[in-house]
Amino acid sequence: MRVYVESFGCAQNHGEGSAIARDLAARGVAVAPTVDGVDAAVLVTCGVIGPTEARMVRRWEALGRTAPRVVVTGCLVPLRTAQFRGPLRERTTFVPIRDQATIPALLTDGAGGLPDAPPTPLPLAPAVAEEIVIAQGCTSGCAYCFSRLARGPIASVPIDAIASRAADAVARGVRELRLTGLDTAAWGFDRPTSGGLADVVRAVARVPGDFRIRVGMMSPQRLLGALDDYLSALAEPKVFRFLHLPVQSGSDRVLAAMRRGYTVTDFERVVASARTRFPELHLATDVIVGYPGETEEDHAATERLLDAVAPETVNVTRFSPRPGTPAARLAPVGPGVAKRRSRSLAVARQRTARRRLERWIGRTETARVLEYGPQGSAVARLDNYLPVVLPRRPPLGAELAVRVDGARSSYLIGRPASADD
Ligand code: SF4
Repeated sequence: MRVYVESFGCAQNHGEGSAIARDLAARGVAVAPTVDGVDAAVLVTCGVIGPTEARMVRRWEALGRTAPRVVVTGCLVPLRTAQFRGPLRERTTFVPIRDQATIPALLTDGAGGLPDAPPTPLPLAPAVAEEIVIAQGCTSGCAYCFSRLARGPIASVPIDAIASRAADAVARGVRELRLTGLDTAAWGFDRPTSGGLADVVRAVARVPGDFRIRVGMMSPQRLLGALDDYLSALAEPKVFRFLHLPVQSGSDRVLAAMRRGYTVTDFERVVASARTRFPELHLATDVIVGYPGETEEDHAATERLLDAVAPETVNVTRFSPRPGTPAARLAPVGPGVAKRRSRSLAVARQRTARRRLERWIGRTETARVLEYGPQGSAVARLDNYLPVVLPRRPPLGAELAVRVDGARSSYLIGRPASADD
């Protein structure tokens, strides 16, 4: 049997998709690199914004033109399955996001008209980086968020299970573990005696082996309550000095309307504490532009905040009303407003990010090669997860000294350091 698995969206979705693929391979299923010639295709959908939902439906139709059977899961199931229309539904199984671990059994139990899978585990292409999902769902109630509706309340994975998944991945040669969830700092809120995110990070860091840990996005609201403990975990040698902290707006009025649960001052305080502890910290943040009711002054406040904080990475998204969310009932900003604001923010972002990255030019740093790029290039990561593009390809996983010769707004340009550097 051959099955193709395709995932879209956040690190958590990719983590869940690759977990399905590993389980299928362990059951003797050939996990195919493309949809050609497969018995079934699995689509792990993302529903974060409207245009992405439309793209998922088109992707389902495309997979259905080749695969005799399609399984659809991810954030659009079950809330948005009505969007998948037409005769392909007869050859489609929709598996709710919280039941996606049942998909390998569903495909291999032989009942679904599919050939039995020989029970001999099959190897999967080795991965250098792998997502480890530490929790399902979220504790917050952000007014625009579809993911919280799709994934439900927080369900933290027990620390021992996380540590054993990490050990299993390291044993398979994985060199970068990406701890992921909708809000990693919410880990443990449903397990009051189990500690918090810092305990998870320390437990994974204790796993023997030569690897690095990247901790996924977290809300300022949840991090605030355990900041010192988390910063001490971030000091673990295996952990990238990387903090992904979506702020979403620089206006307290908009943050309140979004029900984010923190203020701009809270965000600035977290960033200041983290940068005091780690002056080389790589700060990544997310911003939503065009939220209903956002004024020119609110937008200007967001630009001022980005200028003041100067994150190395800023992801800008235009507000998209998602069905079932409170924000979907609000009056949108005027036509073209979100587009204009996201453009001006993109310019501001490039300016501040480049300013931050140019500080690295002329320095020699240790970096780890974690992926290959186009035209024979490689991407190495500094200890703070900043990407350095190298002109040639040392072995994946290799750690080497690199000389930084240039900077763009989202990555550095470097080369293996020589004795003269
Ligand atoms: S913290 Fe993130 S995942 Fe949770 S509700 Fe808010 S936006 Fe959604």
